[in-house]
Amino acid sequence: MSIPTENVGSLPRPMKLQAAIADYDAGKITKADLKIEQDAACKDSIERMEATGSPINSDGEQRASSFATYPLADTLAGTGLADNLAGDGQYFAIFTDGHHRQLPRLTGGPFKYKTYAADYLKEAMPLANKPLKQAVIAPSMLYLLYPLDGEIEGYTREQFTEDLVNECEKDIRKCFETGAQRVSIDFTEGRLACRNDPNNPWTGRGMLEEFINLNNRVIDRFTAEERKNIGIHTCPGGDCDSTHSADVDYADMLPSMFKMNAGYFLIQLASEPDKERIYKLLGEHSRADANGVPQVCFIGVINPLNPTVETPEQVRDDLLLASKYIPVERLGSTDDCGFSPFSIDVKPKHGSPDFARDVAFQKIESRVKGTQMASEELGLN
Ligand SMILES: [Zn+2]
Repeated sequence: MSIPTENVGSLPRPMKLQAAIADYDAGKITKADLKIEQDAACKDSIERMEATGSPINSDGEQRASSFATYPLADTLAGTGLADNLAGDGQYFAIFTDGHHRQLPRLTGGPFKYKTYAADYLKEAMPLANKPLKQAVIAPSMLYLLYPLDGEIEGYTREQFTEDLVNECEKDIRKCFETGAQRVSIDFTEGRLACRNDPNNPWTGRGMLEEFINLNNRVIDRFTAEERKNIGIHTCPGGDCDSTHSADVDYADMLPSMFKMNAGYFLIQLASEPDKERIYKLLGEHSRADANGVPQVCFIGVINPLNPTVETPEQVRDDLLLASKYIPVERLGSTDDCGFSPFSIDVKPKHGSPDFARDVAFQKIESRVKGTQMASEELGLN
């Protein structure tokens, strides 16, 4: 049994697709016109990811407005916003390069997804020759749609939370029913919750434990057998080649994160300054038995924000070092983040989204090769 390897989910959208999204927002083209570009980008993403040798792939989230807003709006600019939402919600994150990303604001109930991740997966399945995974958004992120203070008239926080948990459960179940082999939950707000940024009020509210409990309300609705294939992704953000919480010490977050009863974790690590210290933390805090399922640690070996392609040897060496601290049967490899979690992303350090796509596939190929090399070295094949 070799070391498993899996991507997070997204790829940069081709420049042609990003232009089509802008034209759609401006009313210059129809939704059907936009879909032609999305179809082409999904097909290209799956074909090229499969060509890297990767055992499991995704459609690169080419149809999604972002990893967080896909259930709520057709585009990042807010075209096709779901019912009971307004565009002017709180900042989800302020990035180190100064740009920010904002969430919509809930104006009333009930809270319902407009689009489920499985709606995209359904389109991707016929294009794939290998198993597909699907990423979904965590309830803890969408919890931030509700105003931080006070209550919405006629729709209590408790009512909203119950609706949210039901929708997130449905989102995951539909992915498995549609044919996903694995489903990972994006939890980028976990590390950000430890940041306490005065410019971003929610980060100073000590919400991490609340997030963990909320996510477990969804995860605990699944059997141990199902949870083997339900993952959690943690990272310091990855948008426009910039991060939002890389300065937060993982030691503040990881012990809480592993309280979630998920079967695997996709953990940003390639861009950490002291990887060995974090490998050690993973070995200490991940659980061999999380209510019936072992927690497998997929360590990040690829940095999607940096155009320099990691070599397979670097990937191998990271895994070999990690295997000193994490039991090999609970070790995997991944990328630090999606390659473009938001649909509109010029990938400034790469020069262009199209070039960043080429780089992404080279990086995935290195991850696959290096993971294979580590498996051989550890006598797993
Ligand atoms: Zn991420």
